[in-house]
Amino acid sequence: MKRLIPFLFFLSCFPVHALEAPQIPKNIILFIGDGMGIAQITAGKIVKGRLNLEEFKHIGLVMTFSQNDMVTDSAAAGTAMATGYKTDNYTISMSSDGKPLKTVIEYAKDVNKATGLVASSSITHATPAVFAAHVDSRKKHTIIAEQIATSGIEVIFGGGWQYFVPNTTAGSKRADHKNLLADLAHSTQVIRTEEEFNNLGDVDSVVGLFSRGHLSKANKRKPGLPELTRKAIKILSKNDNGFFLMVEGSQIDWAGHDNNQDELIAEMIDFDDTIGVALDFAKIDSQTLILVTADHETGGFAIHDGSINAKKVTESEFTGSKHTAEMVPVFAYGPGASEFSGIGDNTKIGKTIIKYMKQAL
Ligand code: MG
Ligand code: ZN
Repeated sequence: MKRLIPFLFFLSCFPVHALEAPQIPKNIILFIGDGMGIAQITAGKIVKGRLNLEEFKHIGLVMTFSQNDMVTDSAAAGTAMATGYKTDNYTISMSSDGKPLKTVIEYAKDVNKATGLVASSSITHATPAVFAAHVDSRKKHTIIAEQIATSGIEVIFGGGWQYFVPNTTAGSKRADHKNLLADLAHSTQVIRTEEEFNNLGDVDSVVGLFSRGHLSKANKRKPGLPELTRKAIKILSKNDNGFFLMVEGSQIDWAGHDNNQDELIAEMIDFDDTIGVALDFAKIDSQTLILVTADHETGGFAIHDGSINAKKVTESEFTGSKHTAEMVPVFAYGPGASEFSGIGDNTKIGKTIIKYMKQAL
C-alpha cells in the first residue's frame, strides 16, 4: 500500500483527456500532384529508389469524378479539395448553380492562421486558383489574378505575372490598366527574380511571380519547387496560430498529356524532393499534418518494362492524352492523418481539412 499511494498520486497528475486528446493539427500542408496516379508514383520510385512518400503510414484512395462528368478536370477536383463540395468541370470554387463555396484558405483566415500557395504553373492556373478565387470559368485568368491579389494570402509563389501587370507593360495579358503587382506592393513584398528570392529578408508575407507564364520544367526552374516550399514554410511557421499551405506539382499532368515518360519521371522526383522539405519541418515540429494527393490521373499511364537495379523504366505506354477516372491515392502524415485511410471521395479531403480548421477555434 505504501508503494501504491505515490503511484496513484503520480497517475492523478495526468488528466484522462490528455491521454485521448484528439489529433488536431496546428499546421496543414496539402501537396497536389496534378495528374499523379499510382503508375506515375511507381515510375518515380523505380528511378529515384526510396521515395519520401514512403514515410507516410496512412494511405487511402479517393474517387475524383466531378458534378457533371465522370472524368474531372483540375478545377472541379481542386474545388472538391479546397471546399469539400463537387462542382462542374472548369469551375473555380463555385457551385454548379453559381454560388461561391468557402475555401480552406478562408476557413484558415477565420482562425488567424497564415496561408500560402506554391505552384510550378501560373498561380492563376486552375489548381492554385481554387484556393484563392471564386470564378465560373478557369479560363478567366485576369479575374482570377484580381481575386488572388486581394485574397490576403501571405505567401504566393509561382508564375503568371502577365495577368498582374497593366496592358501598357510588354508581355501583359490584361486588357485594362490595372497594375495588380503595384497594388500588392503597398502591403507585401513583391519579387520577380531568383536573385530577389535569394535575398529575401525576414518578411511576414511575399508574392513571388518568377515567370511571365508557367515556371520552367523540373530541374530548370529557378527557384525550384523545393526551395520555394522551404521558404514558404519558413515564413508561414512564424504565425503562432499555425498555417495552411498548398503546394502543387503542376507539370506532372502536362507530361501525361504529352505522353512524355522522361519529363513525367523528372517532375515526379522533383515533387517527391519537395515533399521531403515538408517532412523535414513536420518531423521537428510534430504539429503538422502533411497530405499528398492528386486531382486525377492523366494519360492512363502504365509501366511495361524496366529495371529496379538499374533504376530505369524502359517500356511504358499511355492509353491516351486525357485525364482518366481512376481513383488517386491520398498519403497522410502527422496529427489527424488516420482520417484519410480507406476508400473515399475527393470531397473528404476538403471536408476534413475544414473540420480541423473549425476545431482550431
Ligand atoms: Mg494544376
Ligand atoms: Zn490536365
